[in-house]
Amino acid sequence: MGVRITPASGTRVGVDNDRCELYGICVMEAPGLFALGADGRLRFRKHPLGPEEKEQAVAAARACPLQAVVLRGDVHG
Ligand code: SF4
Repeated sequence: MGVRITPASGTRVGVDNDRCELYGICVMEAPGLFALGADGRLRFRKHPLGPEEKEQAVAAARACPLQAVVLRGDVHG
């Protein structure tokens, strides 16, 4: 039986595009969630999967120099 990965309950990731300057630090902190596309735009997945990605999402939010990463919902659970 494979490992079942479920979305980290209720945590939602968002990026404030007015603040984001595409430094890519969030990509380094959470490579599974954030990516810089070839078109220079930041892409990200809204729903972290499992506790590890949730931790990474929190780390990305902390590390973003412009506080552009916004976490909503059940972040600390
Ligand atoms: S670390 Fe912040 S400013 Fe840099 S790309 Fe990510 S969201 Fe944008």
